[in-house]
Amino acid sequence: MKYFYLENYGCQMNRADSNSLIHSLRDIGFIQTDDVKKSDSIIINTCSVREHAEERVFGRVRYFASIKRRFNKNLKIIIMGCMAQTSKDILYSFGADNVFDVYNEIDIAQYLKSDILDEKEFNKDYVFHKPYIDDIYTHKAFLPITHGCDNWCSYCIVPHTRGHLLSRKSSEILEGIKQLIGEGAKDITLLGQNVNSYGLDIDDITFTDLLYEIDKIIGDNDIWLKFMTSHPKDFDKTIATAIRDLSSVCEHLHLPFQSGSNRILNVMNRKYTIEEYLEKVSFLRDVDSSFVLSTDIIVGFALETESEFQETLNVVTNIGFEEAYLYRYSERPLTVASQKNIPYDVDKGKDMLSRLIEVQRKVSHDLLSKQVGKTLKVMIDFIAKDKKNYLAKTRNNRSIIIDGSNGKTYTSGDIYNVQVKSIKGHSLMGEIV
Ligand code: SF4
Repeated sequence: MKYFYLENYGCQMNRADSNSLIHSLRDIGFIQTDDVKKSDSIIINTCSVREHAEERVFGRVRYFASIKRRFNKNLKIIIMGCMAQTSKDILYSFGADNVFDVYNEIDIAQYLKSDILDEKEFNKDYVFHKPYIDDIYTHKAFLPITHGCDNWCSYCIVPHTRGHLLSRKSSEILEGIKQLIGEGAKDITLLGQNVNSYGLDIDDITFTDLLYEIDKIIGDNDIWLKFMTSHPKDFDKTIATAIRDLSSVCEHLHLPFQSGSNRILNVMNRKYTIEEYLEKVSFLRDVDSSFVLSTDIIVGFALETESEFQETLNVVTNIGFEEAYLYRYSERPLTVASQKNIPYDVDKGKDMLSRLIEVQRKVSHDLLSKQVGKTLKVMIDFIAKDKKNYLAKTRNNRSIIIDGSNGKTYTSGDIYNVQVKSIKGHSLMGEIV
């Protein structure tokens, strides 16, 4: 019997890839374990987007190499994911046995079984993993519909680590949806670095058409369909209308705007102006004013000035994002920004970030306060750590903690109406009615 231990870092795409690998390994008789010393193979799925995540992986590889030296000379330390492109040599020097880039990780299970690897060429031979229900949240599934990215935002490392945009055939996606529904998925997320670019590289249907085709398959089943991430330059009215008209598609949109300043957007190579972004949000709200928006913002890039930062704060307060992922710019090697030596100021970035967090916190709180007293449809995600309350999500991605003091048991994936009683932190608190 062979045991493996797996650690995952980074985005939902990595989580989906790790999940598929776990299933492939189980299919060939491997057993997953939490006990590192018991395992025959240790697999780390890595992320290069932030320096901090890379540093952590280096530390883990060194630690696993010491376990190998002390307890199990035959242990295999396997690295997969984005760091294979950025740090292969360092990973080997710290003790990794094999480093698989994202084009080759599909074969890890086969390699661990037979020691044979059919090496694939980067940017050429990508094979999509078979989708599976999530290993931890068994009502959820993540289905990658594109891989890689051709947008080349100047701060971003993804085009280097994952390669060119590649869309999965729509026939394969639709089969994947049927398979996941058959296996009990209630909450399916279509994944891609920019899902709105779906189909631009192949002769197939558009992203909007894909939503319509998937909705037909879902039919009257109460299954929630989500997608991420969208890019403002490709987001159009047809997608907004699809969100409104298709009963399976959830009324939430993650639309990163990154900066309120046109100079910064230009240096970032985002390919839209802030006026165009605002126009898209306004037609989205014309289609349905109840859509909930979330976003990503980077501050401190390209020596952002105080007045440029104020433009970002204005967008945050005027649009009203219920949730925002906020970052201080940190330079990543290989990116266009790093090659062009685009300057930045770490201290200014830190100061801007803390002020932005404060503003965003208030915006989120004010928006969520408006939900108190309302009755919302929610899907149960899981039981909280206290083993008493339940965590759930609304269709528009609001988190809600459900009072479980009535002693009733609720199952992940079940849908209920919940009355919102109050707010705690960034979560609503409610009771099932
Ligand atoms: S759209 Fe821009 S930020 Fe997103 S993955 Fe592509 S290059 Fe990176």
